[in-house]
Amino acid sequence: MQAIQERDNSKELVLKTELPSFLVADLLKCPDLPTLPAVAVNVLKMARTEHPSVSDYANAIERDPALTMRIITLANSAFFSRSHIKVHACHEATARLGLDTTLAVVMSFSLLQNRGIDVHYQRVWMRSIIASLAARHLAIHLCPDMAGPLFTAALLQDIGIMALRGIYPKESNDLYAEAVLSHRQLSVSEQRLFGCDHSQVGAWLAAKWGVPAPLAQRICDSHGDYDITAPDRLCIQLSGPIADGLLSSHPAKSLVAVVREFETYQGAHVISLRHLLENIQEQIPALTDMLQMTAPPLQDNESLLAEAQQLLFQQNLQLKARLDTHQAEIASLRQRQDELEERSRTDMLTGLANRSWLEDQMHKRFILCQQQSRTMSAVFIDLDHFKKLNDQYGHQMGDRVLQKFGKTLQALIRDGDLAGRWGGEEFLVILPDEDAQAAQVFAKRIAERLEKTPMAYDGQHPIHVSVSIGIACLDDGGFGDAGELIDAADKSMYFIKRTGRGGIAVYGERGAPGATTSID
Ligand code: GH3
Ligand code: MG
Ligand code: MG
Repeated sequence: MQAIQERDNSKELVLKTELPSFLVADLLKCPDLPTLPAVAVNVLKMARTEHPSVSDYANAIERDPALTMRIITLANSAFFSRSHIKVHACHEATARLGLDTTLAVVMSFSLLQNRGIDVHYQRVWMRSIIASLAARHLAIHLCPDMAGPLFTAALLQDIGIMALRGIYPKESNDLYAEAVLSHRQLSVSEQRLFGCDHSQVGAWLAAKWGVPAPLAQRICDSHGDYDITAPDRLCIQLSGPIADGLLSSHPAKSLVAVVREFETYQGAHVISLRHLLENIQEQIPALTDMLQMTAPPLQDNESLLAEAQQLLFQQNLQLKARLDTHQAEIASLRQRQDELEERSRTDMLTGLANRSWLEDQMHKRFILCQQQSRTMSAVFIDLDHFKKLNDQYGHQMGDRVLQKFGKTLQALIRDGDLAGRWGGEEFLVILPDEDAQAAQVFAKRIAERLEKTPMAYDGQHPIHVSVSIGIACLDDGGFGDAGELIDAADKSMYFIKRTGRGGIAVYGERGAPGATTSID
């Protein structure tokens, strides 16, 4: 959002945000930029004084008889005149219209007089007129004090289009001649073509004319996402789409977004959309007459809204269906991701943890033990004479033995322990919070189980295997990292291999670190 401020000690407006520099240069040298006649400039001057008065306005307006007549006619129109008493003088008319409406009328009259009305201008102004009525109706319900200023801002919200047409007639012709673009699409195309959209250019132009700063700011804020925290901004932001709805060849379709906004915005429940549309339609003729424009055809508001609501219901259903599909897709992706993660941690033959997961977990556990002064043991297990087993019974039988051994190991560990395949016929078990003695008990249980349980059958003949087991406990050596602890368990296991196989050794037992002792 741009910030528009009044410069200190002067009433000159400064547009704080930058329009693209090429655009500013083009705007400044454009002879076709919409300008205001002297009378409008004078009224604007009044508007910026501390306490503008009705008679100041009237004095300035009276210099232009045509304008004066329009203002008096408008003040006497059914919309502004609640009584039947007709006003005849400019200051009475101005008093009845109020300063904001008078300002808006003077400016739009001046701008239209200046340029004449072509089809395109007719369309832009009609949108602005309907938007101004919508903004005022919304404001009366949401922020009554702002009804006047919001009417003016909504009426002038699209003056940037006039400026862009002035500087880039060819591009603008292509862009604006096509009535098919929605206002939002228009804004996107403008951004692409000119580096900013007409709300920003409009604010720039308004600032250059010297309109009051809040008015220029409101023109600037007229686009963008609905701001439900600021009712005054919301009134302007909704006013355009409401106008688009009434002017569209598919009004119900265009109004769906507005209906949705009304259903979501808490503050809007006080407003009946049907009353809003009726109110607008009643008031359009007074303003279009004043500006000598043709009012758009009347709509049947009731059926329009009913259709818009049906469309919204349909859209919500489709949205819900899409959401369900997305959620199902996300769930299946998550499941797939979980499966992949599980697979990346698992040894495919045995279903135990694989080596990289073992290393990762050892590392994490080691650090935790260091931080919290806890202990852990690593148990290294190597199947004895496995090569021979392969040679004798075949590789497939070897695989079956490894699988069975994996299951046996898994059945022997407790929750919180981790058993994995280190590689080949080597296995590693991590026993968190267990000292060497507890690890030994565990190792003995493995050996006993292997004595009792065959790991495979060759026909009727049971095949038993024995294992060499090395144990290293964190308490038993000055281990620098998890790798050193595993090495120590591995060394202890080799000690058993060297001394005959089928046994258990604990690293560093009986004193000296590194000395291994068989306790088979
Ligand atoms: P030791 O008692 O000294 O440990 O002798 P070993 O034969 O068990 O050990 P060695 O390291 O000499 O041989 C290991 C064998 O394990 C050789 C290799 O073919 C076999 N092996 C490794 N991975 C697999 C596997 O996935 N499936 C099968 N069937 N055999 C495997
Ligand atoms: Mg081996
Ligand atoms: Mg072996």
